[in-house]
Amino acid sequence: TTFEDFKLNKQLLNAIADAGYEKPTPIQLQAIPLISAGHDILGIAQTGTGKTAAFLLPLLMKVKYAQGQHPRALIIAPTRELVMQIEESIKLLAKYTDLRYTAIYGGLGPKTQIETISKGIDILVATPKRLMELYLKGDLILKELKTLILDEADKMMDMGFMPQIRQLLEVIPRKRQNLLFSATMPDKVIQLSEEFLEFPIRVEV
Ligand code: AMP
Repeated sequence: TTFEDFKLNKQLLNAIADAGYEKPTPIQLQAIPLISAGHDILGIAQTGTGKTAAFLLPLLMKVKYAQGQHPRALIIAPTRELVMQIEESIKLLAKYTDLRYTAIYGGLGPKTQIETISKGIDILVATPKRLMELYLKGDLILKELKTLILDEADKMMDMGFMPQIRQLLEVIPRKRQNLLFSATMPDKVIQLSEEFLEFPIRVEV
């Protein structure tokens, strides 16, 4: 199987070639067709397996570029570092598209982040706290969300972000695709996955 077999568009295939990815990793082989088919996914994968591209590539096929004002996809990760890494991966893979994306996280003032969002955004990457801060202040509209991705869910639970995630799940559209990735599957993560994934398919590497 090659990346061509996933029916990715030319812009993505060219970006993949530039990145030097020769063939899909095991998690990409399993997850990309299932995510493309619209399934909810429970992914058990460590960092280093290529899990980020496994969810980004089908997302970049699904989301409409440079369209509308509010984000259609939201990726949540526990730390600023991880959020920035995911943003870098989007930059790499979306380089030949006109996708509008940004990352929001704490540790610095929200002004620039709010300005970027207000110009219109397709995909948002965020830490849980800053996300809910901007949402509750009315700086972020989440009613157009069609895809929700939680990355490193185990770490998110360990860091005490369950209240923010619960609050988020209450205010976003019910009809959406959900992807949950975690390195480990403690009870807390299984419980979370039961709460918000619909008929998930489990992929594991
Ligand atoms: P991740 O597990 O998402 O943190 O990715 C680990 C590293 O693998 C990142 O530096 C990616 O750029 C790289 N990577 C992702 N997919 C592939 C692939 N198919 N072939 C080679 N490297 C990859």
